[in-house]
Order: sequence, then structure tokens, then C-alpha cells
Amino acid sequence: MRLSQFHLSTTRETPADAEVASHQLMLRAGMIRKHAAGIYTWTPLGLRVLRRVESVVREEMERAGAVEMLMPSIQPRELWEETGRWEKFGGQLLKLRDRKDGEFCYGPTHEEVVTDFARNELRSYKQLPLSVFQIQTKFRDEIRPRFGVMRAREFLMKDAYSFHLDAECLARTYRVMYDAYTRIFERLGLRFRAVAADTGAIGGSASHEFHVLADSGEDAIAFSDGSDYAANVELAEAVAPSAPRGVPVESMRRVDTPTQRTCEDVAALMGIELGRTVKSIAVIGKQGFVLVLVRGDHSVNELKLAKLEGLADYRLASEAEIAEHLGSEPGFLGPVNTRLPVTVIADRSVAAMADFIVGANETGFHLAGVNWGRDLPEPGLVADVRNVIEGDPSPDGKGRLSIARGIEVGHVFQLGQTYAKAMGATVLDHNGKAQVMHMGCYGIGVSRIVAAAIEQNNDGAGISWPAPMAPWQVAVCVINPKGAPEVEEAAAALHARLEDAGISAVLDDRGLRPGPMLSDIELIGIPQRVVVSERGLAAGTYEYRERNEPESESIALETLEQRLG
Ligand code: ATP
Ligand code: MG
Ligand code: MG
Ligand code: MG
Repeated sequence: MRLSQFHLSTTRETPADAEVASHQLMLRAGMIRKHAAGIYTWTPLGLRVLRRVESVVREEMERAGAVEMLMPSIQPRELWEETGRWEKFGGQLLKLRDRKDGEFCYGPTHEEVVTDFARNELRSYKQLPLSVFQIQTKFRDEIRPRFGVMRAREFLMKDAYSFHLDAECLARTYRVMYDAYTRIFERLGLRFRAVAADTGAIGGSASHEFHVLADSGEDAIAFSDGSDYAANVELAEAVAPSAPRGVPVESMRRVDTPTQRTCEDVAALMGIELGRTVKSIAVIGKQGFVLVLVRGDHSVNELKLAKLEGLADYRLASEAEIAEHLGSEPGFLGPVNTRLPVTVIADRSVAAMADFIVGANETGFHLAGVNWGRDLPEPGLVADVRNVIEGDPSPDGKGRLSIARGIEVGHVFQLGQTYAKAMGATVLDHNGKAQVMHMGCYGIGVSRIVAAAIEQNNDGAGISWPAPMAPWQVAVCVINPKGAPEVEEAAAALHARLEDAGISAVLDDRGLRPGPMLSDIELIGIPQRVVVSERGLAAGTYEYRERNEPESESIALETLEQRLG
């Protein structure tokens, strides 16, 4: 590829509305362009990176025995009615109507569609187990799309689903998928951690999330220094856009619980059904805050959002504002505080998602639509909640907890029979008897991985791709191509040799001055670069530099070729 024929469009200025490094750098490098909130075009440069991620994911899925297919992104309402998710999924579900008044949604996930496929295709236990996957655009009408493609509304996901005759078989495939995920993130060169995402209602290790470790991550994960214990501590989000990101762990304090009620009590009062989705609810503060803690799995956000929306016009407030209204120190607020980790005790999950809802009226903060005393007990009640802080004993009794921030890039889940039962997906067993299938689902945020990798790999000059994700492995940069034909020829020849050798290389023949040219190459994160100049050629050398090395070296062609790729 020649850059003169490519569309590269970089900028030096940091875009004003981009908060995190990856979003800033993806815009500056010209990898993505925004059309609407959470909706982006991937430019030719961005797409090269996205495709690299996709191909590693595809290879490892196939290695894990999953077969690729492609399901529709537009899905009929009827299927979603069968599982009850047409309503339950809530505001994230983008609903559409066709000219005949047929109702559809743009798929945020594919359990319904794949279960429908399976119940029609699979007749006998002999066809099981079966694992399928697709790499496809999803749409979720996220309440706060942000950080570019990290939390987009339209995004690319790899979703896989497996079908089994029994739970043991599901558990085996789950393990295979878990291992495949580990290989994927290792191959991509990312620093990551797998954490338990649910140890509550379903029990054991029914769900794990894979997190790329980064300070800008929206999730907090707790892990023990004395055992393998690691779990997501989904967070009370800092809902105020102006609030500082990340609260120092030292500033956390336990929430004292003057009145304790069980989750069930509060759930009953709030009319929320506890179960697979909502794990726990806490109400905190004299003037009435509500923390809705839900588990982070496929069917969760729906409910959270449904509730948020059901509760109508709430307003997001800053930590300081909340503290002022409560007449307390910000530190006292515990989980309501900006981005503090929360965990749910009383034998529930450590994976809890907290979101809080605050409204304001003449009496101060209140919950829109909630009549205290009637709908909810007196404010000032805390149910089942405490902070997890650095140094807490690990729940397994072995060691102490550390807390790190992470970006959820993958999620594997043993669904069991829930969907298959709701949709009547059965096969005949050895005795000719119909059995409801057991299912697993396995998601990877392909587009989110691109942003997550940048969070881990950037410096003052720009992006520094892990080699497997780089748009090109090598950039061959020509100084003054028009003025010196022999320089241009030498560079083109080197570029051609690299391509012949199967090394992905780009020739920068745009004719830019060395400064802007080299800073572009650094900004877009090419791991290796070679500068071909008149002076170098006269001395028989090429100037070679690795993206993460401070200095370049002058080396001869033979040595150069050994170093490249
Ligand atoms: P999150 O907790 O970040 O909202 P999720 O738990 O809702 O994610 P899953 O339903 O587990 O997401 O979907 C599988 C994967 O899809 C996630 O692990 C994540 O990598 C990716 N993903 C989910 N939502 C988004 C989004 N809005 N933008 C980009 N990627 C996403
Ligand atoms: Mg999640
Ligand atoms: Mg998830
Ligand atoms: Mg979500």
C-alpha cells in the first residue's frame, strides 16, 4: 500500500469533546469519524486495525470448534416476546416498524434469533454439541454513549452460542471458550484479567468477564493477592460529566448501615423483581438516593434502563452537589460516591452494577415518581451494600483484595436452559425423549478492543500498536521523493521486497517534509519504520527505528531485512 493512494487524515489538535486517550487518538489518527452520538464510520485506517482484531478472534473461535454464520441484525418482535425481553430489555433496544406496521428491533444481542435457529435446525442429540459464532454489527441505545467506540451505540461484536444436551457438556465447552478468550487477548498483546462476573444466583463459575486493565476503565475489578480470586465489582458510575474520573481508593469509606433491610424487602417495595437480572438494591441517604445494583450480563442493562426510564426524569448530580444536599462529607457517600466499587454481601454476587438516580425538586433530591413512605420506606436505609476497598480480606478467605480498573472486552456465560425453555428448543435424546437444550453464550467487543488496546499502548507521540493489531508492520518513509528519483526507487524496492516476504508494509510517498511525515507515522502507531534518504543511500544505510525505542539506527540493507517484520 502506498500512502499517496490511501486516505490518511491526521490532526495535531486534541479534539475538545474526547475525554479519554483512545478516543482522542482514534480521532487524531483519523481512524474513526462520528456521525451521531455513538455512531461512527471506520475509516480505511481504522478498518485495517478492526479487521486484524476480527481475524484473530475468528481464528481462535474456529480453533475452539465454533462455526461461523451470520444472523440478521433486524429481528422480529415476536421472537423477543417469546422470552419476554421485548419489554424487559428496556431502552437499549432500538425498535423499528416497517411499512406494514410489523415491529422489529435492531439486534443488541442474538439469543432469541440463535435459539429460534437451533429449535428449527436441531432435532437429535447426535447433532450436539454445536457452537456457532458471528461477527456482526450490534445496536444498543446506550443511555450515555461515550469514549468513542468504547461505549458506542453501533458496534461490532463477536457473539458465539453453544447448544448441549446436558449441563456437563455445556461446562466443558464453556471451558474451551474461556481458554480461547485467553488466547485471543494474549495474541493481541493485551494486559488483561479474567474475572468472575457472577457467583450469586447461578452459582459457581457460570460467568466470567475479560477485562483489559486500564485506568480509564469503567469497571472495577477486585482480586486477591493470596488466591485466584478475581471478580468484577461493577461500579457506581460517576454520572456527572464534570465529576473527576476515578476516586482515589484511600478516599473510600464504608457506608454505615443504621437500618438494614434485605434486598427482597426493598425490591418488593420498589416493585422490582430480584433474580437473574437485578441482584440487589440499595437506598441510601437522608433525602433518598436509590442505587439499583444489577448484575452485568446480557439481560441486565435492559432492566436497569427500564427502571431508570420508568422512574422518569432523574437528573445526574455531581459528588459535591450530592454531598451538599445530604449535609455530609463526600467520603461518607460510599457507593454513591463517584466511581466507587460496590459489592453485595449476604451471599450474593460480588458483581454488582450500580447506577444511581437522583432527581431534584424544591425539597432537594428525590426520586422522580417516588412517594416516600408510600412507595419506599423512609430514606436512610441501606440494604446489603458495602464498599470493597483495597486491603479488604478476600471473600474466599485467602489473602487481601486489590482493586484495579478494567475495560470489559469479553464475557462468557453459561445460560443453562432459560432461553431454550422459553422458546421450546428441544432435541430428542438417546431414548427418543424431547429434552430442552442447555446453552452458553460468549461475547467479545471487537470494536471496543481497538480502543482498549490504545488505552494500554500510547505515549506523547500517539498510538503504539501491539504488533498483531498494527495497520501495517512497517512504514517505509521516503524523504523528498520527487526531488530524488533514486531515493524513491530504493524505497519502492524495499517496500516491494517486504510485501513479497509477506510483511505488511506501507510506503509513505506522500512527499511530506520529514517532520510531519514521521510524526504521522508515530501517531498512527506503526511498530517499525525505515527512513530512506539521499544521504543514507550515499552511505549505503537506512534509518531504522522501532516505535517504542527512543533512537533510530543507521543500518545496512541486509541487517535491516533481518530486523523487519
Ligand atoms: P457493558 O457492561 O460495558 O455495558 P455489557 O456487559 O452490556 O457491556 P455484553 O452484553 O456482555 O456487554 O456484550 C459482550 C461484549 O460486547 C462486552 O463484553 C463488550 O466488550 C461489548 N460491548 C457491549 N456494549 C458495548 C458498547 N456499547 N460499545 C462497544 N462495545 C460494547
Ligand atoms: Mg458488563
Ligand atoms: Mg457483559
Ligand atoms: Mg451494557
